[in-house]
Amino acid sequence: MQPLTGLLPDEIYSALDLKQSFRGKQIFKWVHSGAESFTEMTNLSAALRENLSSRCVLFSSMIATEVVSRDGTVKITIKLEDGLFVEAVLLEDETGRKTACLSSQAGCAMGCKFCRTGTMGLLRNLSPGEIVEQFLLLQNKYGRISNIVFMGMGEPFENLASVRKAIEIFHHQDGQNIGLRRITISTCGIISGIDSLAEEGPAVRLAVSLVSGDQDTRTSLMPITKSNPLPELKKSLKQYQLSTGKRFTLEYVLLGGVNDTLKDAEKVRHFIGNMKAAVNVIPWNPADTLPFKEPEEENVNLFLDRLEELGVTVTRRYRRGRGINGACGQLAVFENSSDSSNPG
Ligand code: SAH
Ligand code: SF4
Repeated sequence: MQPLTGLLPDEIYSALDLKQSFRGKQIFKWVHSGAESFTEMTNLSAALRENLSSRCVLFSSMIATEVVSRDGTVKITIKLEDGLFVEAVLLEDETGRKTACLSSQAGCAMGCKFCRTGTMGLLRNLSPGEIVEQFLLLQNKYGRISNIVFMGMGEPFENLASVRKAIEIFHHQDGQNIGLRRITISTCGIISGIDSLAEEGPAVRLAVSLVSGDQDTRTSLMPITKSNPLPELKKSLKQYQLSTGKRFTLEYVLLGGVNDTLKDAEKVRHFIGNMKAAVNVIPWNPADTLPFKEPEEENVNLFLDRLEELGVTVTRRYRRGRGINGACGQLAVFENSSDSSNPG
Protein backbone atom coordinates (compact mmCIF):
# COMPACT_ATOMS: atom_id res chain seq x y z
CA MET A 1 0.00 0.00 0.00
CA GLN A 2 1.08 3.57 -0.69
CA PRO A 3 2.05 5.54 2.40
CA LEU A 4 -0.93 7.55 3.70
CA THR A 5 1.11 10.73 3.33
CA GLY A 6 0.63 10.45 -0.43
CA LEU A 7 -3.16 10.20 -0.29
CA LEU A 8 -6.05 12.69 -0.30
CA PRO A 9 -8.86 12.35 2.29
CA ASP A 10 -11.12 10.23 0.06
CA GLU A 11 -8.25 7.98 -0.89
CA ILE A 12 -7.36 7.42 2.75
CA TYR A 13 -10.97 6.48 3.33
CA SER A 14 -10.93 3.84 0.61
CA ALA A 15 -7.37 2.63 1.13
CA LEU A 16 -8.05 1.93 4.80
CA ASP A 17 -11.50 0.56 4.09
CA LEU A 18 -12.98 2.86 6.73
CA LYS A 19 -16.69 2.70 7.48
CA GLN A 20 -17.36 6.43 7.50
CA SER A 21 -15.97 8.80 4.87
CA PHE A 22 -15.34 11.62 7.35
CA ARG A 23 -12.69 9.41 8.96
CA GLY A 24 -10.57 9.88 5.86
CA LYS A 25 -10.68 13.62 6.36
CA GLN A 26 -9.92 13.29 10.08
CA ILE A 27 -6.83 11.18 9.43
CA PHE A 28 -5.68 13.51 6.62
CA LYS A 29 -5.99 16.46 9.01
CA TRP A 30 -3.97 14.66 11.66
CA VAL A 31 -1.19 13.76 9.24
CA HIS A 32 -0.94 17.35 8.07
CA SER A 33 -1.06 18.85 11.52
CA GLY A 34 1.96 16.90 12.65
CA ALA A 35 0.83 13.46 13.82
CA GLU A 36 3.42 10.80 13.19
CA SER A 37 1.45 7.81 14.42
CA PHE A 38 -2.19 6.70 14.71
CA THR A 39 -1.90 6.69 18.50
CA GLU A 40 -1.95 10.50 18.44
CA MET A 41 -5.30 10.65 16.61
CA THR A 42 -7.48 11.10 19.65
CA ASN A 43 -10.76 11.64 17.84
CA LEU A 44 -10.64 8.09 16.50
CA SER A 45 -11.81 5.33 18.80
CA ALA A 46 -9.13 3.39 20.63
CA ALA A 47 -10.17 0.25 18.78
CA LEU A 48 -9.83 1.95 15.38
CA ARG A 49 -6.45 3.46 16.29
CA GLU A 50 -5.18 0.07 17.31
CA ASN A 51 -6.58 -1.59 14.24
CA LEU A 52 -4.96 1.02 11.95
CA SER A 53 -1.60 0.83 13.76
CA SER A 54 -1.52 -2.91 13.26
CA ARG A 55 -2.34 -2.58 9.55
CA CYS A 56 -0.14 0.26 8.32
CA VAL A 57 2.43 2.88 9.11
CA LEU A 58 1.95 6.57 8.43
CA PHE A 59 5.42 7.45 7.18
CA SER A 60 7.44 5.40 4.73
CA SER A 61 10.64 7.40 5.24
CA MET A 62 12.66 8.86 8.09
CA ILE A 63 15.33 11.44 8.78
CA ALA A 64 18.73 9.75 8.65
CA THR A 65 20.94 12.77 9.31
CA GLU A 66 20.50 16.48 9.57
CA VAL A 67 22.89 19.38 9.48
CA VAL A 68 22.26 23.02 10.28
CA SER A 69 24.54 25.56 8.67
CA ARG A 70 25.69 28.80 10.27
CA ASP A 71 23.09 30.78 8.30
CA GLY A 72 20.29 28.60 9.71
CA THR A 73 19.74 26.50 6.58
CA VAL A 74 18.82 22.94 7.49
CA LYS A 75 19.58 19.98 5.27
CA ILE A 76 18.05 16.63 6.05
CA THR A 77 19.02 13.36 4.47
CA ILE A 78 16.04 11.07 4.34
CA LYS A 79 16.14 7.31 4.23
CA LEU A 80 13.46 5.87 1.97
CA GLU A 81 11.69 2.57 2.52
CA ASP A 82 13.99 0.74 0.09
CA GLY A 83 17.17 2.11 1.66
CA LEU A 84 17.86 4.87 -0.87
CA PHE A 85 18.57 8.38 0.38
CA VAL A 86 17.28 11.77 -0.77
CA GLU A 87 17.84 15.24 0.56
CA ALA A 88 15.55 18.15 1.42
CA VAL A 89 16.52 21.62 2.55
CA LEU A 90 14.79 24.22 4.71
CA LEU A 91 15.61 27.85 4.05
CA GLU A 92 14.54 30.74 6.24
CA ASP A 93 14.64 34.36 5.10
CA GLU A 94 15.20 37.49 7.20
CA THR A 95 11.48 37.80 7.88
CA GLY A 96 11.30 34.26 9.24
CA ARG A 97 9.45 32.89 6.24
CA LYS A 98 10.34 29.27 5.67
CA THR A 99 10.73 27.58 2.30
CA ALA A 100 11.12 23.85 1.77
CA CYS A 101 13.35 22.83 -1.12
CA LEU A 102 12.12 19.38 -2.11
CA SER A 103 13.48 16.56 -4.24
CA SER A 104 11.35 14.96 -6.92
CA GLN A 105 13.69 12.08 -7.76
CA ALA A 106 16.51 10.13 -6.15
CA GLY A 107 19.33 11.33 -8.40
CA CYS A 108 18.69 12.78 -11.85
CA ALA A 109 19.09 11.52 -15.38
CA MET A 110 19.67 14.93 -17.00
CA GLY A 111 23.41 14.96 -16.42
CA CYS A 112 23.97 18.73 -16.25
CA LYS A 113 27.72 19.09 -16.00
CA PHE A 114 27.78 21.70 -13.21
CA CYS A 115 25.31 19.95 -10.90
CA ARG A 116 26.25 17.51 -8.20
CA THR A 117 22.95 15.62 -8.40
CA GLY A 118 23.59 15.20 -12.12
CA THR A 119 26.71 13.13 -11.38
CA MET A 120 24.62 10.50 -9.57
CA GLY A 121 22.45 9.47 -12.50
CA LEU A 122 18.83 8.54 -11.86
CA LEU A 123 18.14 5.98 -9.15
CA ARG A 124 14.35 6.25 -9.26
CA ASN A 125 11.33 8.52 -9.17
CA LEU A 126 9.84 9.44 -5.81
CA SER A 127 6.22 8.62 -4.98
CA PRO A 128 3.82 11.42 -3.98
CA GLY A 129 4.07 10.26 -0.36
CA GLU A 130 7.86 10.41 -0.43
CA ILE A 131 7.68 13.99 -1.69
CA VAL A 132 5.07 15.02 0.90
CA GLU A 133 7.06 13.37 3.69
CA GLN A 134 10.12 15.54 2.99
CA PHE A 135 7.93 18.54 3.76
CA LEU A 136 6.31 16.99 6.83
CA LEU A 137 9.59 15.80 8.31
CA LEU A 138 10.96 19.34 8.04
CA GLN A 139 7.82 21.11 9.23
CA ASN A 140 7.15 18.78 12.14
CA LYS A 141 10.59 19.56 13.46
CA TYR A 142 11.19 23.18 12.49
CA GLY A 143 7.74 24.79 12.38
CA ARG A 144 5.34 26.13 9.81
CA ILE A 145 6.61 26.21 6.23
CA SER A 146 4.86 28.61 3.86
CA ASN A 147 6.62 28.06 0.53
CA ILE A 148 7.80 25.13 -1.54
CA VAL A 149 10.33 24.97 -4.35
CA PHE A 150 11.05 21.84 -6.37
CA MET A 151 14.74 22.63 -6.58
CA GLY A 152 16.18 19.70 -4.70
CA MET A 153 17.37 16.51 -6.35
CA GLY A 154 15.85 15.54 -9.67
CA GLU A 155 13.91 16.97 -12.57
CA PRO A 156 10.24 17.54 -11.59
CA PHE A 157 8.98 17.23 -15.18
CA GLU A 158 10.49 13.75 -15.40
CA ASN A 159 8.20 12.73 -12.53
CA LEU A 160 5.28 15.03 -13.18
CA ALA A 161 2.46 12.72 -12.06
CA SER A 162 3.91 12.38 -8.55
CA VAL A 163 4.78 16.07 -8.37
CA ARG A 164 1.22 16.99 -9.41
CA LYS A 165 -0.26 14.70 -6.79
CA ALA A 166 2.05 16.06 -4.07
CA ILE A 167 1.03 19.61 -5.03
CA GLU A 168 -2.65 18.66 -4.82
CA ILE A 169 -2.02 17.40 -1.31
CA PHE A 170 -0.03 20.51 -0.26
CA HIS A 171 -2.80 22.72 -1.65
CA HIS A 172 -5.69 20.85 0.01
CA GLN A 173 -7.66 23.04 2.40
CA ASP A 174 -7.86 20.37 5.10
CA GLY A 175 -4.09 19.95 5.05
CA GLN A 176 -1.32 22.50 4.50
CA ASN A 177 -3.56 24.75 2.39
CA ILE A 178 -0.52 26.21 0.63
CA GLY A 179 -1.44 28.61 -2.19
CA LEU A 180 -0.31 27.54 -5.65
CA ARG A 181 1.58 30.81 -6.04
CA ARG A 182 3.73 29.77 -3.11
CA ILE A 183 4.89 26.67 -4.94
CA THR A 184 7.57 26.73 -7.65
CA ILE A 185 8.54 24.02 -10.10
CA SER A 186 12.06 24.41 -11.44
CA THR A 187 12.96 22.63 -14.68
CA CYS A 188 16.08 22.25 -16.76
CA GLY A 189 13.86 23.09 -19.76
CA ILE A 190 11.74 20.05 -20.62
CA ILE A 191 9.40 21.48 -23.24
CA SER A 192 6.71 18.80 -22.92
CA GLY A 193 6.51 19.53 -19.18
CA ILE A 194 6.15 23.27 -19.68
CA ASP A 195 3.42 22.67 -22.27
CA SER A 196 1.62 20.28 -19.98
CA LEU A 197 1.80 22.74 -17.06
CA ALA A 198 0.42 25.49 -19.29
CA GLU A 199 -2.44 23.32 -20.52
CA GLU A 200 -3.39 21.35 -17.46
CA GLY A 201 -1.89 23.17 -14.49
CA PRO A 202 -1.57 23.35 -11.59
CA ALA A 203 -1.10 27.12 -11.61
CA VAL A 204 2.16 27.06 -9.69
CA ARG A 205 5.13 29.28 -10.46
CA LEU A 206 7.62 28.18 -13.06
CA ALA A 207 11.39 28.54 -13.00
CA VAL A 208 13.58 27.44 -15.88
CA SER A 209 17.30 26.83 -15.46
CA LEU A 210 18.59 28.68 -18.50
CA VAL A 211 22.32 28.72 -17.67
CA SER A 212 23.19 29.92 -21.15
CA GLY A 213 21.40 31.74 -23.94
CA ASP A 214 23.74 30.17 -26.47
CA GLN A 215 22.65 26.86 -28.00
CA ASP A 216 26.15 25.34 -28.24
CA THR A 217 27.32 26.41 -24.80
CA ARG A 218 24.06 25.24 -23.27
CA THR A 219 24.25 21.88 -25.04
CA SER A 220 27.73 21.30 -23.67
CA LEU A 221 26.59 22.14 -20.12
CA MET A 222 23.09 20.67 -20.25
CA PRO A 223 22.81 17.74 -22.70
CA ILE A 224 18.99 17.97 -22.59
CA THR A 225 19.34 21.06 -24.81
CA LYS A 226 19.96 18.80 -27.79
CA SER A 227 16.41 17.45 -27.73
CA ASN A 228 14.95 20.64 -26.25
CA PRO A 229 16.70 23.38 -28.26
CA LEU A 230 16.58 27.01 -27.16
CA PRO A 231 14.33 28.30 -29.98
CA GLU A 232 11.76 25.59 -29.16
CA LEU A 233 12.08 26.28 -25.46
CA LYS A 234 11.41 29.93 -26.13
CA LYS A 235 8.34 29.08 -28.20
CA SER A 236 7.00 26.92 -25.41
CA LEU A 237 7.62 29.64 -22.80
CA LYS A 238 5.87 32.20 -24.98
CA GLN A 239 2.87 29.90 -25.23
CA TYR A 240 3.01 29.30 -21.46
CA GLN A 241 2.91 33.03 -20.90
CA LEU A 242 0.10 33.49 -23.37
CA SER A 243 -2.12 30.87 -21.80
CA THR A 244 -1.34 31.49 -18.12
CA GLY A 245 -0.61 35.23 -18.17
CA LYS A 246 2.21 34.48 -15.75
CA ARG A 247 5.74 35.74 -15.47
CA PHE A 248 8.38 33.09 -14.98
CA THR A 249 11.91 33.03 -13.62
CA LEU A 250 15.05 32.10 -15.50
CA GLU A 251 17.67 30.62 -13.20
CA TYR A 252 21.17 31.41 -14.35
CA VAL A 253 24.00 29.50 -12.70
CA LEU A 254 27.07 31.64 -13.23
CA LEU A 255 30.15 29.54 -13.96
CA GLY A 256 33.49 31.31 -13.79
CA GLY A 257 35.00 31.76 -17.27
CA VAL A 258 32.23 29.76 -18.96
CA ASN A 259 29.04 31.84 -19.16
CA ASP A 260 29.83 35.01 -17.22
CA THR A 261 30.80 37.62 -19.84
CA LEU A 262 28.86 40.69 -20.98
CA LYS A 263 28.22 38.89 -24.25
CA ASP A 264 26.60 36.07 -22.28
CA ALA A 265 24.35 38.60 -20.54
CA GLU A 266 23.35 39.96 -23.94
CA LYS A 267 22.44 36.45 -25.10
CA VAL A 268 20.14 36.08 -22.10
CA ARG A 269 18.51 39.39 -23.06
CA HIS A 270 18.09 38.12 -26.58
CA PHE A 271 16.52 34.88 -25.37
CA ILE A 272 13.99 36.79 -23.26
CA GLY A 273 12.91 38.96 -26.18
CA ASN A 274 9.50 40.34 -25.30
CA MET A 275 8.61 37.70 -22.73
CA LYS A 276 8.00 38.75 -19.13
CA ALA A 277 10.70 37.03 -17.14
CA ALA A 278 12.94 37.78 -14.18
CA VAL A 279 16.47 36.42 -14.08
CA ASN A 280 17.81 34.89 -10.91
CA VAL A 281 21.59 34.76 -11.00
CA ILE A 282 23.15 32.02 -8.89
CA PRO A 283 26.94 32.12 -8.60
CA TRP A 284 28.00 28.49 -8.97
CA ASN A 285 28.31 26.61 -5.71
CA PRO A 286 31.44 24.52 -5.67
CA ALA A 287 30.74 20.84 -5.79
CA ASP A 288 33.88 18.79 -5.36
CA THR A 289 35.22 16.93 -8.38
CA LEU A 290 33.26 19.08 -10.83
CA PRO A 291 35.57 20.95 -13.22
CA PHE A 292 34.20 24.48 -12.79
CA LYS A 293 35.11 27.49 -10.79
CA GLU A 294 33.17 30.17 -9.01
CA PRO A 295 32.78 33.40 -10.94
CA GLU A 296 34.87 36.38 -9.85
CA GLU A 297 32.85 38.78 -7.72
CA GLU A 298 33.61 41.56 -10.17
CA ASN A 299 32.23 39.55 -13.07
CA VAL A 300 29.08 38.69 -11.14
CA ASN A 301 28.43 42.40 -10.66
CA LEU A 302 29.24 43.29 -14.26
CA PHE A 303 26.91 40.54 -15.44
CA LEU A 304 24.07 41.74 -13.19
CA ASP A 305 24.62 45.37 -14.19
CA ARG A 306 24.60 44.56 -17.89
CA LEU A 307 21.29 42.70 -17.61
CA GLU A 308 19.82 45.62 -15.70
CA GLU A 309 21.08 48.07 -18.29
CA LEU A 310 19.30 45.96 -20.88
CA GLY A 311 16.05 46.33 -18.96
CA VAL A 312 15.95 42.88 -17.39
CA THR A 313 14.70 42.37 -13.83
CA VAL A 314 17.49 40.55 -12.02
CA THR A 315 17.98 39.16 -8.57
CA ARG A 316 21.00 37.51 -7.12
CA ARG A 317 20.54 34.34 -5.14
CA TYR A 318 22.58 34.74 -2.02
CA ARG A 319 24.42 31.74 -0.87
CA ARG A 320 22.78 29.70 1.76
CA GLY A 321 23.66 26.35 3.14
CA ARG A 322 26.94 26.09 1.31
CA GLY A 323 28.93 24.87 4.28
CA ILE A 324 26.64 21.86 4.51
CA ASN A 325 26.46 21.07 0.79
CA GLY A 326 22.85 22.14 1.06
CA ALA A 327 22.95 24.89 -1.52
CA CYS A 328 21.55 24.55 -5.01
CA GLY A 329 23.17 21.83 -7.01
CA GLN A 330 25.16 20.54 -4.08
CA LEU A 331 22.69 17.85 -3.25
CA ALA A 332 23.92 14.36 -3.82
CA VAL A 333 24.04 11.18 -1.86
CA PHE A 334 26.48 8.56 -2.96
CA GLU A 335 26.62 4.83 -2.36
CA ASN A 336 23.55 4.80 -0.18
CA SER A 337 25.23 6.69 2.58
CA SER A 338 24.94 10.33 3.44
CA ASP A 339 27.86 12.60 2.82
CA SER A 340 26.47 15.17 5.21
CA SER A 341 28.67 14.03 8.05
CA ASN A 342 31.48 15.47 6.02
CA PRO A 343 30.39 19.04 5.34
CA GLY A 344 32.09 20.68 2.43
N1 SAH B 1 16.16 19.84 -12.11
C1 SAH B 1 15.60 21.11 -11.87
C2 SAH B 1 15.49 21.45 -10.39
C3 SAH B 1 16.64 21.05 -9.50
S1 SAH B 1 18.15 21.90 -9.78
C4 SAH B 1 16.38 22.19 -12.61
O1 SAH B 1 17.42 21.88 -13.17
O2 SAH B 1 15.91 23.33 -12.65
C5 SAH B 1 17.82 23.43 -8.94
C6 SAH B 1 18.66 24.60 -9.39
O3 SAH B 1 20.01 24.46 -8.96
C7 SAH B 1 18.71 24.77 -10.90
O4 SAH B 1 18.44 26.12 -11.23
C8 SAH B 1 20.16 24.43 -11.22
O5 SAH B 1 20.57 25.09 -12.38
C9 SAH B 1 20.88 24.90 -9.98
N2 SAH B 1 22.19 24.32 -9.77
C10 SAH B 1 22.60 23.08 -10.07
N3 SAH B 1 23.88 22.90 -9.69
C11 SAH B 1 24.30 24.06 -9.13
C12 SAH B 1 25.52 24.49 -8.51
N4 SAH B 1 26.55 23.66 -8.36
N5 SAH B 1 25.58 25.76 -8.05
C13 SAH B 1 24.51 26.58 -8.13
N6 SAH B 1 23.34 26.22 -8.67
C14 SAH B 1 23.22 24.97 -9.16
FE1 SF4 C 1 19.09 17.37 -12.81
FE2 SF4 C 1 18.46 19.95 -12.39
FE3 SF4 C 1 20.86 18.98 -11.67
FE4 SF4 C 1 20.29 19.26 -14.24
S1 SF4 C 1 20.46 20.93 -12.73
S2 SF4 C 1 21.27 17.46 -13.31
S3 SF4 C 1 18.14 18.74 -14.26
S4 SF4 C 1 18.89 18.37 -10.83
